[in-house]
Amino acid sequence: MRIEKHTAHGWWLEEAGEPAPRAALEGDRSADVVVVGGGFTGLWTAWHLVEAGARVALVEGGVCGHGPSGRNGGFCESLWLSGAAIRERFGDGAARALLDASSESVVDIGAWCRANDVDAWFDQSGYMCVSTAPGFDDVGAGAVDAAAALGAPERVVPLGAEEVRAHCASPVFRGGVMVPDFATLHPARLALGLRRRLIERGVEVFEHSRVTSLPPRRDGDGVRATTASGSVRAAAAVLAIGPGTRSVRRLRSRLTVTSSHIVLTEPVPDVLTGLGWTGGECITDGRTLVHYFRTTRDGRIVFGWGGGRPAFGGHVNGRAEVDGQAAAEALRSLLRLFPALEGRRITHAWGGPVDVSPSHIPQIGSLDGSPVHYAFGYTGNGVGPSQLAGRTLAALAAGRDDPVTELPIVGADAGAWVPPEPIAWLGGQVVRSALVRCERAEEDGRRAGPVTRAICAAPRALGIHLAR
Ligand SMILES: Cc1cc2nc3c(=O)[nH]c(=O)nc-3n(C[C@H](O)[C@H](O)[C@H](O)COP(=O)(O)OP(=O)(O)OC[C@H]3O[C@@H](n4cnc5c(N)ncnc54)[C@H](O)[C@@H]3O)c2cc1C
Repeated sequence: MRIEKHTAHGWWLEEAGEPAPRAALEGDRSADVVVVGGGFTGLWTAWHLVEAGARVALVEGGVCGHGPSGRNGGFCESLWLSGAAIRERFGDGAARALLDASSESVVDIGAWCRANDVDAWFDQSGYMCVSTAPGFDDVGAGAVDAAAALGAPERVVPLGAEEVRAHCASPVFRGGVMVPDFATLHPARLALGLRRRLIERGVEVFEHSRVTSLPPRRDGDGVRATTASGSVRAAAAVLAIGPGTRSVRRLRSRLTVTSSHIVLTEPVPDVLTGLGWTGGECITDGRTLVHYFRTTRDGRIVFGWGGGRPAFGGHVNGRAEVDGQAAAEALRSLLRLFPALEGRRITHAWGGPVDVSPSHIPQIGSLDGSPVHYAFGYTGNGVGPSQLAGRTLAALAAGRDDPVTELPIVGADAGAWVPPEPIAWLGGQVVRSALVRCERAEEDGRRAGPVTRAICAAPRALGIHLAR
């Protein structure tokens, strides 16, 4: 089967339509807060700041929402599937507060869309994490135990094979767990809807304006964000540049960058009816190099693979966006899970870079000795959590009290140290290849060799969580 159109930006942005252009930053300007980066993190930060009455300038290197935020899978997630790791890292009380706040963010995003008349196809129909081979049968079990231990067993519910298949009857599904509070949405419509409402509210949005430096001002009063043709002076700055954070000297040892790739079917309502997959649930399998899949309002299947190649340093273009081999691998898996799609059209493929935290948990904080606040490291799960990060960053930048600034992710360490290039890139390539072999073997009913398994286990020994 042939992929008809393979681009960097993909179908969501095509469906949402081109936004009216914004001018680049020219000359010297001032604001209370300058937000660098117009993905979900920057857009939500700007929204919360403007709601609090701040003067905001948002400076985006390309077009707002045209990075990963406008072209992801549209899973809008709470953090409950990571409950075990979050509990282990932060303890029960702090973990519960963080998990509840992440659930609130999903609800808040839906409420924001309704209140602001943005039709981003928000649909809170829940999520299943399913096993697709015996080696993955314990998938989600840690999250079930964590939710129960935290007094919230309804947040992550175990499902048997028949229960899973009642939601979606793939022949390879074997059981799993349900997290009811996940939603799906149309990421480009949300990002561009946020951009539109921010402009209406008076946020100065500059595009095609890459910030090249963000030094503290000489008078000691705030920062100056500088681009090739202008600058913004502000009391505080928010760095919301996603995978681009890997090129920031003071933060680069806190993340790596990999890539994720999506293929999209033509509308296949008959196949969805045959599968009984008509309830809008989003689904992933239990692999570390995860497959994620969902339906759209017009009856397509969006099918992604989080197993793209690592990017070198902060290099987020090229094969991080368009990678024929990664798309072909996603397509192969799509047909394994849904053989009824054989012969149907695959209309689009696209991809993008993913900012990966060693702990798998997003990082929010402030640079020592300067009023620069950051969030990154969502590890492919930022659509819901970026709203929480935006609220938190807005409070940090404005020096405002908000309970979210007390959440345990704020100011936490990265979990492990990421080496410089080329070591991180080489290590990432080796581990990725081993995981591809290992997980393919599991699906084929084999066991990978001992060396491959040892390589797959190595990151964990170094404190790096590749899976949740
Ligand atoms: C293919 C794919 C599928 C995914 N699927 C999901 C999913 O289903 N669910 C989920 O929760 N997450 C998913 N993710 C991850 C999700 O997209 C991100 O976690 C989320 O969008 C993070 O938003 P952000 O604003 O932090 O970063 P970004 O969206 O990367 O935005 C950062 C912005 O900063 C700009 N920028 C960078 N450097 C500069 C600079 N120097 N000056 C000015 N601007 C700059 C960039 O141009 C970009 O627009 C996926 C990611 C990819 C690539």
